[in-house]
Amino acid sequence: MRERVLEFEEALAEVLRHALAGPPPSAKERVSITEAAGRVLASAVRAERDQPPFARSTRDGYAVRSGDVAAGRGLRIVGSVRAGEQWRGDEVRSGEAIEIMTGAPAPAGTDAVLMVEHATVGDDGLLRVAAGRALGPGENIVAQGAEARADAELIPVGRRLGAAEIAMAASCGYAQMDVFARPRVAIVATGDELVELDAELESYQIRNSNSYALAALVGEEDGEAVRFPTARDVMSDLRERIIAGREADLLLLSGGVSMGKYDLVEQALREAGAELIFTGAWIQPGKPVVFGRMRRDQSERKWTYFFGLPGNPVSTEVCFRLFVAPMLRALAGQTEISPRFVEARLAEDVKSGARVTRFLPAVIESDWQHVTVRLVPWQGSGNLAANARASGFVVLPGGVERFAAGESVRVLLR
Ligand code: AMP
Ligand code: MG
Repeated sequence: MRERVLEFEEALAEVLRHALAGPPPSAKERVSITEAAGRVLASAVRAERDQPPFARSTRDGYAVRSGDVAAGRGLRIVGSVRAGEQWRGDEVRSGEAIEIMTGAPAPAGTDAVLMVEHATVGDDGLLRVAAGRALGPGENIVAQGAEARADAELIPVGRRLGAAEIAMAASCGYAQMDVFARPRVAIVATGDELVELDAELESYQIRNSNSYALAALVGEEDGEAVRFPTARDVMSDLRERIIAGREADLLLLSGGVSMGKYDLVEQALREAGAELIFTGAWIQPGKPVVFGRMRRDQSERKWTYFFGLPGNPVSTEVCFRLFVAPMLRALAGQTEISPRFVEARLAEDVKSGARVTRFLPAVIESDWQHVTVRLVPWQGSGNLAANARASGFVVLPGGVERFAAGESVRVLLR
């Protein structure tokens, strides 16, 4: 099989196409709401009752008939109602008002709440609207069911649960929620130079940081990382890890995908019967990235997707955020899976002239006026220190000589 190096957009489209073609995860689990944050919803959250369940005052003030106020009538205050109560008196008649607090149900007969700040009570003891203020029907009241009707779907299957979704579910009485099981992600670092964190090391050896970075990235996307022992740059090691990794929902290999004599990952994948969907993308860093899939075993029809990620740590992270994260989100049952970009202005001129799309470590600085982005000086894609100072990656499209300060660019968010 030949090499297949794609433009960035094509490579991303391939990943998204495969990610979205797969079935949703089959395994669900029920967790308590306190454990649901960060998980992906597997059964929709529905409204327990109309939301709000009653016509709710959004202000402290007086519940009135708006027509009375429009007509300039002085109103008699005949009672009071606070949050957690309901007005138990007669229906409010024309010429009457009820003192009301935020969150309380508007009494029957009233259709608006005159804010306390816009009300005056005269010497005659009657309530009036302050000079220069008016009050229309419905003002400062949210009608029953205005947010949702009972049983309406409030959070769809496939949404990652954050604080807002948890609040919604809690308001509907969900003490437990159904979420998808976390996809298992096998992580294999490759390289003869790699040593573990607790080992003594020679000057020419380096510590395996990618396994830990990838495990952290997988965790961020609600995957369950399984770190395999590092593979030496020999076929037997690679073969063994690939066969074991095939049992996972996703297999990530780091290193060994460039053109060097000991870069054997692609060959090992081919020999294991894998289908390589692309063998590179015109991006920098990250050009040698490999994407493909293999049958979980001969009889099964299930695919295990894999990525061969370039070993340089910044390349590894960039490729993860661009390609792996969308696939992982889909495997976790999410429906919104694309990489997340924002726009910002360049803080300084940037020379480029590269043919490929570049993703460079950068810091986003926002003040009240502008959101700007500044490149972090770096020594290339092995520069972990520069990467650790960045809050995202500036996207510089290929074929442009120079980007000017103030120009709007995309930023891939961390
Ligand atoms: P490779 O992609 O195997 O050619 O590796 C490219 C560069 O990334 C080399 O300088 C490696 O030492 C470095 N590298 C590869 N794997 C890792 C890893 N697991 N942790 C940190 N650096 C790595
Ligand atoms: Mg290597």
